[in-house]
Amino acid sequence: MQELRTDVYGARHQRVREEMKKQDVDFLFITPSSDLLYLLGYPAHASERLTLLGVAQDGAFFVVVPRLEAPRLEHWRNRIDMHVWDETESPYEIVARLADGAIGQRVAISSHARASVLLELLELMPEASFCSANTVMRTLRMIKDDWEIEQLRIASERTDDVWEEFITNATLAGRSERDVADDITNLLRKHGLMTTTFLIVASGPGSASPHHMTSDRVIQEGDSVVFDFGARWHHYTSDLTRTVHVGEPSDEYRRAYETVLRANQAAFDAVHPGAPCEAIDRAARDLISAAGYGDYFIHRLGHGLGLDGHEDPYLVGGNSLPLQPGMVFSDEPGIYIPGQFGIRIEDTVVCRASGGERLNHCRRELTVMQ
Ligand code: ZN
Ligand code: ZN
Repeated sequence: MQELRTDVYGARHQRVREEMKKQDVDFLFITPSSDLLYLLGYPAHASERLTLLGVAQDGAFFVVVPRLEAPRLEHWRNRIDMHVWDETESPYEIVARLADGAIGQRVAISSHARASVLLELLELMPEASFCSANTVMRTLRMIKDDWEIEQLRIASERTDDVWEEFITNATLAGRSERDVADDITNLLRKHGLMTTTFLIVASGPGSASPHHMTSDRVIQEGDSVVFDFGARWHHYTSDLTRTVHVGEPSDEYRRAYETVLRANQAAFDAVHPGAPCEAIDRAARDLISAAGYGDYFIHRLGHGLGLDGHEDPYLVGGNSLPLQPGMVFSDEPGIYIPGQFGIRIEDTVVCRASGGERLNHCRRELTVMQ
Protein backbone atom coordinates (compact mmCIF):
# COMPACT_ATOMS: atom_id res chain seq x y z
CA MET A 1 0.00 0.00 0.00
CA GLN A 2 1.20 3.54 -0.79
CA GLU A 3 2.15 5.80 2.06
CA LEU A 4 -0.20 8.75 2.24
CA ARG A 5 1.38 12.15 2.92
CA THR A 6 -1.60 13.49 4.87
CA ASP A 7 0.27 16.72 5.68
CA VAL A 8 0.89 17.46 2.00
CA TYR A 9 -2.56 16.50 0.70
CA GLY A 10 -4.45 17.87 3.72
CA ALA A 11 -3.00 21.32 3.06
CA ARG A 12 -3.83 21.11 -0.65
CA HIS A 13 -7.43 20.09 0.07
CA GLN A 14 -7.80 23.02 2.44
CA ARG A 15 -6.49 25.42 -0.20
CA VAL A 16 -8.70 24.01 -2.95
CA ARG A 17 -11.81 24.60 -0.83
CA GLU A 18 -10.74 28.16 -0.06
CA GLU A 19 -10.07 28.88 -3.71
CA MET A 20 -13.45 27.41 -4.76
CA LYS A 21 -15.19 29.74 -2.29
CA LYS A 22 -13.21 32.73 -3.52
CA GLN A 23 -14.05 31.95 -7.15
CA ASP A 24 -17.67 31.03 -6.41
CA VAL A 25 -17.32 27.46 -7.67
CA ASP A 26 -19.84 24.94 -6.23
CA PHE A 27 -18.29 21.75 -7.60
CA LEU A 28 -14.88 20.86 -8.96
CA PHE A 29 -14.64 17.83 -11.28
CA ILE A 30 -11.12 16.53 -11.94
CA THR A 31 -10.32 13.70 -14.38
CA PRO A 32 -6.94 11.92 -14.83
CA SER A 33 -4.27 14.60 -15.28
CA SER A 34 -1.59 16.40 -13.32
CA ASP A 35 -4.45 18.10 -11.42
CA LEU A 36 -5.59 14.70 -10.13
CA LEU A 37 -2.00 13.87 -9.26
CA TYR A 38 -1.81 17.15 -7.35
CA LEU A 39 -4.94 16.51 -5.30
CA LEU A 40 -4.70 12.74 -4.73
CA GLY A 41 -1.15 11.73 -5.67
CA TYR A 42 -2.80 9.31 -8.08
CA PRO A 43 -1.14 8.95 -11.52
CA ALA A 44 -4.19 7.63 -13.36
CA HIS A 45 -4.24 7.16 -17.13
CA ALA A 46 -7.02 8.86 -19.04
CA SER A 47 -9.05 6.17 -20.74
CA GLU A 48 -12.58 5.51 -21.94
CA ARG A 49 -13.43 4.34 -18.40
CA LEU A 50 -14.29 7.36 -16.26
CA THR A 51 -12.27 8.22 -13.17
CA LEU A 52 -13.41 11.50 -11.60
CA LEU A 53 -12.64 13.33 -8.38
CA GLY A 54 -15.48 15.58 -7.24
CA VAL A 55 -15.05 18.31 -4.65
CA ALA A 56 -18.04 20.16 -3.24
CA GLN A 57 -17.57 23.68 -1.90
CA ASP A 58 -18.54 22.51 1.60
CA GLY A 59 -15.51 20.22 1.50
CA ALA A 60 -17.06 16.86 0.61
CA PHE A 61 -14.73 14.80 -1.61
CA PHE A 62 -15.84 11.87 -3.73
CA VAL A 63 -14.14 9.67 -6.28
CA VAL A 64 -15.88 7.73 -9.02
CA VAL A 65 -13.57 4.95 -10.16
CA PRO A 66 -13.89 1.76 -12.26
CA ARG A 67 -13.77 -1.44 -10.22
CA LEU A 68 -10.58 -2.72 -11.88
CA GLU A 69 -8.70 0.43 -10.83
CA ALA A 70 -10.18 0.83 -7.35
CA PRO A 71 -7.35 -1.08 -5.61
CA ARG A 72 -4.94 1.70 -6.61
CA LEU A 73 -6.94 4.12 -4.45
CA GLU A 74 -7.31 1.78 -1.48
CA HIS A 75 -5.29 4.11 0.77
CA TRP A 76 -7.88 6.87 0.24
CA ARG A 77 -10.85 4.67 1.10
CA ASN A 78 -11.31 5.89 4.68
CA ARG A 79 -10.78 9.54 3.82
CA ILE A 80 -12.81 10.04 0.66
CA ASP A 81 -16.27 8.92 -0.35
CA MET A 82 -15.42 6.16 -2.87
CA HIS A 83 -17.89 5.14 -5.59
CA VAL A 84 -16.71 2.08 -7.43
CA TRP A 85 -18.58 1.42 -10.68
CA ASP A 86 -19.04 -1.88 -12.50
CA GLU A 87 -18.71 -2.38 -16.23
CA THR A 88 -22.51 -2.49 -16.69
CA GLU A 89 -23.12 0.83 -14.91
CA SER A 90 -22.96 4.43 -16.15
CA PRO A 91 -20.34 6.34 -14.14
CA TYR A 92 -21.77 9.60 -15.46
CA GLU A 93 -25.14 8.90 -13.81
CA ILE A 94 -23.30 8.31 -10.54
CA VAL A 95 -21.55 11.69 -10.86
CA ALA A 96 -24.80 13.52 -11.70
CA ARG A 97 -26.52 11.86 -8.73
CA LEU A 98 -23.71 12.71 -6.30
CA ALA A 99 -23.89 16.36 -7.35
CA ASP A 100 -27.73 16.34 -7.25
CA GLY A 101 -27.65 17.60 -10.82
CA ALA A 102 -25.89 20.77 -9.56
CA ILE A 103 -29.04 22.68 -10.50
CA GLY A 104 -28.25 26.38 -10.90
CA GLN A 105 -24.72 25.77 -9.64
CA ARG A 106 -21.27 26.37 -11.06
CA VAL A 107 -19.27 23.26 -11.91
CA ALA A 108 -15.58 23.76 -12.74
CA ILE A 109 -14.36 20.85 -14.86
CA SER A 110 -10.77 19.92 -15.61
CA SER A 111 -9.53 21.30 -18.92
CA HIS A 112 -7.81 17.91 -19.35
CA ALA A 113 -11.18 16.12 -19.37
CA ARG A 114 -12.06 14.48 -22.65
CA ALA A 115 -14.80 16.25 -24.63
CA SER A 116 -16.83 13.03 -24.31
CA VAL A 117 -16.86 13.40 -20.48
CA LEU A 118 -18.19 16.95 -20.68
CA LEU A 119 -20.78 16.01 -23.34
CA GLU A 120 -22.14 13.17 -21.19
CA LEU A 121 -22.35 15.41 -18.13
CA LEU A 122 -23.95 18.29 -20.06
CA GLU A 123 -26.72 15.93 -21.06
CA LEU A 124 -27.28 14.53 -17.55
CA MET A 125 -26.86 17.88 -15.74
CA PRO A 126 -28.62 20.37 -18.06
CA GLU A 127 -29.21 22.95 -15.35
CA ALA A 128 -25.61 23.14 -14.12
CA SER A 129 -23.32 25.82 -15.50
CA PHE A 130 -19.91 24.41 -16.48
CA CYS A 131 -16.68 26.38 -16.50
CA SER A 132 -12.97 25.56 -16.61
CA ALA A 133 -11.23 24.30 -13.46
CA ASN A 134 -8.04 25.96 -14.70
CA THR A 135 -8.60 29.20 -12.83
CA VAL A 136 -8.86 27.31 -9.53
CA MET A 137 -6.08 24.80 -10.17
CA ARG A 138 -3.49 27.18 -11.63
CA THR A 139 -3.82 29.47 -8.59
CA LEU A 140 -2.98 26.54 -6.32
CA ARG A 141 -0.32 24.87 -8.40
CA MET A 142 1.65 27.99 -9.35
CA ILE A 143 2.86 28.44 -5.78
CA LYS A 144 4.97 25.44 -4.77
CA ASP A 145 5.26 24.41 -1.14
CA ASP A 146 8.59 23.39 0.42
CA TRP A 147 8.04 19.71 -0.28
CA GLU A 148 7.41 20.37 -3.99
CA ILE A 149 10.48 22.60 -4.28
CA GLU A 150 12.54 19.84 -2.64
CA GLN A 151 11.40 17.32 -5.29
CA LEU A 152 12.23 19.81 -8.05
CA ARG A 153 15.61 20.46 -6.46
CA ILE A 154 16.47 16.75 -6.40
CA ALA A 155 15.30 16.28 -10.00
CA SER A 156 17.40 19.29 -11.09
CA GLU A 157 20.52 18.28 -9.16
CA ARG A 158 20.49 14.78 -10.60
CA THR A 159 19.96 16.19 -14.08
CA ASP A 160 22.99 18.44 -13.51
CA ASP A 161 25.02 15.39 -12.49
CA VAL A 162 23.94 13.61 -15.68
CA TRP A 163 25.09 16.58 -17.76
CA GLU A 164 28.49 16.88 -16.05
CA GLU A 165 29.13 13.17 -16.47
CA PHE A 166 28.02 13.30 -20.09
CA ILE A 167 30.28 16.19 -21.18
CA THR A 168 33.23 14.72 -19.30
CA ASN A 169 33.06 11.37 -21.10
CA ALA A 170 31.23 11.65 -24.41
CA THR A 171 32.50 12.37 -27.89
CA LEU A 172 30.03 13.72 -30.44
CA ALA A 173 31.63 13.96 -33.90
CA GLY A 174 30.71 11.01 -36.11
CA ARG A 175 27.78 9.85 -33.97
CA SER A 176 24.09 10.28 -34.67
CA GLU A 177 21.86 12.50 -32.52
CA ARG A 178 19.84 9.42 -31.57
CA ASP A 179 22.92 7.52 -30.47
CA VAL A 180 24.06 10.43 -28.31
CA ALA A 181 20.54 10.76 -26.86
CA ASP A 182 20.81 7.12 -25.72
CA ASP A 183 23.88 8.07 -23.64
CA ILE A 184 21.78 10.64 -21.80
CA THR A 185 18.86 8.27 -21.29
CA ASN A 186 21.23 5.71 -19.77
CA LEU A 187 22.77 8.32 -17.48
CA LEU A 188 19.34 9.52 -16.32
CA ARG A 189 18.54 5.94 -15.37
CA LYS A 190 21.91 5.54 -13.66
CA HIS A 191 21.20 8.63 -11.56
CA GLY A 192 17.83 7.29 -10.46
CA LEU A 193 15.62 9.45 -12.68
CA MET A 194 13.49 6.75 -14.26
CA THR A 195 11.13 8.66 -16.51
CA THR A 196 12.61 10.80 -19.24
CA THR A 197 10.09 13.57 -19.86
CA PHE A 198 11.61 14.63 -23.18
CA LEU A 199 15.03 14.67 -24.79
CA ILE A 200 16.13 16.92 -27.63
CA VAL A 201 19.53 16.56 -29.29
CA ALA A 202 19.66 19.15 -32.08
CA SER A 203 22.85 19.46 -34.11
CA GLY A 204 24.16 21.72 -36.87
CA PRO A 205 21.37 23.48 -38.80
CA GLY A 206 18.85 21.50 -36.66
CA SER A 207 20.02 23.40 -33.59
CA ALA A 208 18.33 26.49 -35.05
CA SER A 209 14.95 24.75 -34.57
CA PRO A 210 13.99 25.14 -30.87
CA HIS A 211 11.79 22.00 -30.81
CA HIS A 212 13.90 19.91 -33.17
CA MET A 213 13.09 16.18 -33.33
CA THR A 214 16.14 14.10 -32.40
CA SER A 215 17.14 12.33 -35.64
CA ASP A 216 19.67 10.05 -37.32
CA ARG A 217 21.74 13.04 -38.46
CA VAL A 218 25.44 12.46 -37.85
CA ILE A 219 27.06 15.20 -35.76
CA GLN A 220 30.05 16.88 -37.41
CA GLU A 221 32.98 19.10 -36.54
CA GLY A 222 31.76 22.72 -36.57
CA ASP A 223 28.27 21.90 -35.26
CA SER A 224 26.47 23.66 -32.49
CA VAL A 225 24.57 21.01 -30.51
CA VAL A 226 21.62 21.89 -28.27
CA PHE A 227 20.66 19.39 -25.55
CA ASP A 228 17.30 19.98 -23.86
CA PHE A 229 16.03 17.30 -21.52
CA GLY A 230 14.19 16.60 -18.31
CA ALA A 231 13.26 13.70 -16.09
CA ARG A 232 11.02 13.11 -13.11
CA TRP A 233 11.54 12.68 -9.40
CA HIS A 234 8.33 11.94 -7.46
CA HIS A 235 6.43 13.10 -10.57
CA TYR A 236 8.15 16.53 -10.55
CA THR A 237 10.15 17.24 -13.68
CA SER A 238 13.49 18.88 -14.31
CA ASP A 239 14.16 20.85 -17.51
CA LEU A 240 17.72 21.66 -18.54
CA THR A 241 19.22 23.02 -21.76
CA ARG A 242 22.90 23.31 -22.53
CA THR A 243 24.58 24.00 -25.86
CA VAL A 244 28.03 22.80 -26.82
CA HIS A 245 30.22 23.34 -29.87
CA VAL A 246 32.02 20.52 -31.68
CA GLY A 247 35.55 21.74 -32.39
CA GLU A 248 36.75 25.36 -32.26
CA PRO A 249 33.87 27.85 -32.65
CA SER A 250 34.02 30.98 -34.82
CA ASP A 251 34.15 34.46 -33.31
CA GLU A 252 30.56 35.02 -34.43
CA TYR A 253 29.45 31.89 -32.58
CA ARG A 254 31.32 32.95 -29.43
CA ARG A 255 29.64 36.37 -29.55
CA ALA A 256 26.18 34.83 -29.89
CA TYR A 257 26.90 32.33 -27.09
CA GLU A 258 28.11 35.08 -24.78
CA THR A 259 24.93 37.05 -25.55
CA VAL A 260 22.64 34.14 -24.61
CA LEU A 261 24.63 33.53 -21.43
CA ARG A 262 24.32 37.19 -20.42
CA ALA A 263 20.58 37.17 -21.26
CA ASN A 264 20.09 34.12 -19.02
CA GLN A 265 21.84 36.02 -16.20
CA ALA A 266 19.93 39.28 -16.84
CA ALA A 267 16.60 37.44 -16.58
CA PHE A 268 17.73 35.67 -13.42
CA ASP A 269 18.79 38.98 -11.88
CA ALA A 270 15.36 40.47 -12.66
CA VAL A 271 13.53 37.81 -10.60
CA HIS A 272 11.96 39.16 -7.42
CA PRO A 273 8.49 39.03 -5.87
CA GLY A 274 6.15 41.54 -7.49
CA ALA A 275 8.04 41.69 -10.81
CA PRO A 276 5.60 41.06 -13.68
CA CYS A 277 6.31 37.85 -15.63
CA GLU A 278 6.76 39.88 -18.80
CA ALA A 279 9.51 41.97 -17.19
CA ILE A 280 11.69 38.87 -16.80
CA ASP A 281 11.21 38.06 -20.50
CA ARG A 282 11.95 41.70 -21.30
CA ALA A 283 15.23 41.72 -19.36
CA ALA A 284 16.63 38.93 -21.55
CA ARG A 285 15.04 40.18 -24.78
CA ASP A 286 16.36 43.74 -24.44
CA LEU A 287 19.88 42.43 -24.00
CA ILE A 288 19.62 40.11 -27.01
CA SER A 289 18.12 42.90 -29.15
CA ALA A 290 20.85 45.34 -28.13
CA ALA A 291 23.42 42.78 -29.35
CA GLY A 292 21.64 42.70 -32.73
CA TYR A 293 20.00 39.27 -32.40
CA GLY A 294 16.46 40.43 -31.51
CA ASP A 295 14.92 38.78 -34.58
CA TYR A 296 16.51 35.44 -33.67
CA PHE A 297 15.04 35.03 -30.17
CA ILE A 298 11.80 33.54 -31.40
CA HIS A 299 10.11 32.17 -28.27
CA ARG A 300 9.05 33.30 -24.79
CA LEU A 301 11.69 33.34 -22.06
CA GLY A 302 10.20 30.61 -19.93
CA HIS A 303 7.38 28.56 -18.47
CA GLY A 304 6.34 27.28 -15.07
CA LEU A 305 7.53 23.82 -14.07
CA GLY A 306 6.16 21.24 -11.67
CA LEU A 307 4.01 18.18 -12.26
CA ASP A 308 3.73 19.38 -15.87
CA GLY A 309 6.74 20.23 -18.01
CA HIS A 310 4.98 23.43 -19.10
CA GLU A 311 2.55 25.10 -16.70
CA ASP A 312 1.74 28.52 -15.27
CA PRO A 313 3.29 31.02 -14.87
CA TYR A 314 4.44 31.79 -18.43
CA LEU A 315 7.24 34.35 -18.77
CA VAL A 316 6.05 36.02 -21.92
CA GLY A 317 5.30 39.53 -23.24
CA GLY A 318 1.74 40.52 -22.25
CA ASN A 319 1.67 38.54 -19.01
CA SER A 320 1.51 41.11 -16.21
CA LEU A 321 1.04 38.49 -13.47
CA PRO A 322 3.38 39.44 -10.60
CA LEU A 323 5.90 36.80 -9.45
CA GLN A 324 5.38 35.41 -5.97
CA PRO A 325 7.65 33.43 -3.67
CA GLY A 326 7.25 29.72 -4.44
CA MET A 327 6.81 30.11 -8.20
CA VAL A 328 9.16 27.84 -10.18
CA PHE A 329 9.93 28.48 -13.85
CA SER A 330 12.51 28.13 -16.58
CA ASP A 331 14.90 30.86 -17.72
CA GLU A 332 15.73 29.86 -21.29
CA PRO A 333 16.76 32.56 -23.74
CA GLY A 334 18.01 31.47 -27.16
CA ILE A 335 19.37 32.69 -30.48
CA TYR A 336 18.49 30.70 -33.61
CA ILE A 337 20.05 31.63 -36.95
CA PRO A 338 18.33 29.59 -39.68
CA GLY A 339 20.66 27.34 -41.66
CA GLN A 340 23.58 28.06 -39.32
CA PHE A 341 23.23 27.42 -35.62
CA GLY A 342 21.09 27.68 -32.52
CA ILE A 343 22.07 28.32 -28.91
CA ARG A 344 19.88 28.01 -25.81
CA ILE A 345 20.81 28.00 -22.13
CA GLU A 346 18.09 26.95 -19.69
CA ASP A 347 17.94 26.72 -15.91
CA THR A 348 15.10 26.15 -13.48
CA VAL A 349 14.61 29.06 -11.10
CA VAL A 350 12.58 29.48 -7.89
CA CYS A 351 11.27 32.90 -6.89
CA ARG A 352 12.15 33.49 -3.24
CA ALA A 353 11.32 36.46 -0.97
CA SER A 354 14.86 37.75 -1.58
CA GLY A 355 14.99 37.12 -5.35
CA GLY A 356 15.75 34.21 -7.67
CA GLU A 357 17.35 30.91 -6.69
CA ARG A 358 18.70 28.59 -9.36
CA LEU A 359 18.04 24.87 -9.07
CA ASN A 360 20.56 24.04 -11.82
CA HIS A 361 24.26 24.55 -11.20
CA CYS A 362 26.05 22.62 -13.96
CA ARG A 363 28.43 24.72 -16.03
CA ARG A 364 26.98 27.30 -18.40
CA GLU A 365 30.21 28.54 -19.99
CA LEU A 366 30.88 27.62 -23.61
CA THR A 367 31.99 24.00 -23.76
CA VAL A 368 33.96 22.69 -26.72
CA MET A 369 33.62 18.95 -27.35
CA GLN A 370 35.09 16.58 -29.88
ZN1 ZN B 1 13.88 22.59 -21.79
ZN1 ZN C 1 11.80 24.58 -20.80
